[in-house]
Amino acid sequence: MLWITRPWLAIVPLYVVVVPVDGQVGEVAVRCPFCGSVDDDRVVDSRESHDGTTIRRRRACAACGRRFTTFERVEEAPLLVLKRDGSREQFDLAKLVSGLEKATKNRPIEPERIVRIASDIEETIRGRGQREVESQEIGIEVLNALRDLDAVAYMRFASVYKDFQNSDDFERELDTLESLRKTTPPKPRTRSRAGRS
Ligand SMILES: [Zn+2]
Repeated sequence: MLWITRPWLAIVPLYVVVVPVDGQVGEVAVRCPFCGSVDDDRVVDSRESHDGTTIRRRRACAACGRRFTTFERVEEAPLLVLKRDGSREQFDLAKLVSGLEKATKNRPIEPERIVRIASDIEETIRGRGQREVESQEIGIEVLNALRDLDAVAYMRFASVYKDFQNSDDFERELDTLESLRKTTPPKPRTRSRAGRS
């Protein structure tokens, strides 16, 4: 659980509550910002944000009687990336965006587009319900996206995708990726992807 105090609202402290997706939303331990008593409050009002991702709850502390507000957000299940060296790390959208930025540098591609591609890739991978993804799978998704978008960016990404020792490696890799790409089932179309091409 993550607590964030909003210091600019000192009079009525606001807290952000992040609960795991398997946890009972709303059934979380909440510390009263006034008296510090834990889990001894009742919810007097709940309301969802417009996009449905956050629930705002007005709570009354049973110990001191004072009221405060929490914002509750469901945390997505962690997605692990299995790297080529066998190590694992948390999937990092910012890292994916930065990789795409490098590949598309000085190309006529809007930054918003890059972020959308990265989000789409994350969505595609999460949509498969995997808890773990090989970095290579992400690479293939990137190549799929860049191929449709920009040939130069595609080749740039393909060339740094692996540390190529020589042009044979490069060609072999492209062949491998090409065959993998063909065997990858078509991605389900989503709202955000519909505007592409
Ligand atoms: Zn209290």
